[in-house]
Amino acid sequence: MADNQLYEALGVARGATDSEIRRNYRKLAKEYHPDKNPAAGDKFKEISFAYEVLTDPQKREVYDRFGLKGLQEGGDSGFSFGPEDLFGNFFGGGGGPFGGLFGGFGGGGMRGQRRGPRKGENTIHRLKVTLEDLYNGKISKLQLSRNTICTACGGKGGPAGALQPCRTCNGRGIKVTITQLGPGMVQQMQSRCPDCYGEGEMINETDRCQSCMGRKVTQQTKILEVHVEKGMRDEQRITFRGEGDQMPGVEPGDVIIVLQEKPHETFQRNGSDLLMKYTVSLTEALCGFSMVVKHLDGRNLCIKHPPGSVLEPGCVRGVLGEGMPMSKNPYQKGDLYIRFEIGFPDNYFTNEGKLKELEKLLGGRPAAAPIPAEAEEVNMTEFEGHGTGGPRGHAHDEDDDHPHMGQHVQCAHQ
Ligand SMILES: [Zn+2]
Ligand SMILES: [Zn+2]
Repeated sequence: MADNQLYEALGVARGATDSEIRRNYRKLAKEYHPDKNPAAGDKFKEISFAYEVLTDPQKREVYDRFGLKGLQEGGDSGFSFGPEDLFGNFFGGGGGPFGGLFGGFGGGGMRGQRRGPRKGENTIHRLKVTLEDLYNGKISKLQLSRNTICTACGGKGGPAGALQPCRTCNGRGIKVTITQLGPGMVQQMQSRCPDCYGEGEMINETDRCQSCMGRKVTQQTKILEVHVEKGMRDEQRITFRGEGDQMPGVEPGDVIIVLQEKPHETFQRNGSDLLMKYTVSLTEALCGFSMVVKHLDGRNLCIKHPPGSVLEPGCVRGVLGEGMPMSKNPYQKGDLYIRFEIGFPDNYFTNEGKLKELEKLLGGRPAAAPIPAEAEEVNMTEFEGHGTGGPRGHAHDEDDDHPHMGQHVQCAHQ
């Protein structure tokens, strides 16, 4: 038994074309959408349901032959209708031409969503920069290849009217297979339309635009000037609005450049501070020295350590204002920290007589502990273990143990 209820809901005649159904549905959906017209909830459900059925060739066939009853019976074995499903399908949740571009729309999440033009995916590029680049600032030119709307066909893929909705899937990009399981019992399966490859549109071989081969877009290279500013950080993002791939009917996404700081051979960065390691001999640690550090802008910093001031292994000294520029205020800089390693002399570096002299210089030694009579004498050998100390007592602190902020001990500069 046939009825016309669903056609009437959309204000079309039985036998209306697909595009008539779509046009009327859109008009009505705007009018009765719950956001605009909360009192008309049932009306909206009704037109949504009608649309869902009439734009699906298999469901439409079931409806034309068996009426609503046929659909309801089928509902027990796999059909599920409702505005949620409708939106899931309408907005590309099922893999139409823009399927997957806006994940947020599937599953009925329309309420409160932005209704502006659909937006394409963002393109993310990583840009390697040196610490010098981040200290001094730099303009990097980046060549990108992106899709732009074909100028020959204006993004239509061919002459006007050449592009037709795919007949197999009615422009939905999805093929629905209905298997009759028994009287009034059907099972529904969805798959990507094999004829249009999920695009929902078809164009004749002979009509294809020669520039884009019917793809509507062509690849073009574009040079982007990336301004790497002083003090920018690793993983910082620089966004070029709307420079992503173009596609007809879709607002292009952004190109996002993500900075990647390359490791530096002298300096390690910690926010706006710089850290470096420096090894001096025990003699220098005790008797003073001067060192030269080549900075990131090419300046040579001369750092003096006066005789008599003692550096202990693993100690950290700071040079204020010689760190990285602050990103918002490049004239202000962080600090430079130097962690000192002390190179101790080799075994048996001098004779016993000289050692006695050294002992005196270092202030003698405490009296040896008395040795009890029953003490056992054992030998000590070098040991390369997992301990904190090496064979000769070097302090091996964690390499990435950053100096404590605020503990600014400044080297004497004169
Ligand atoms: Zn073209
Ligand atoms: Zn198709």
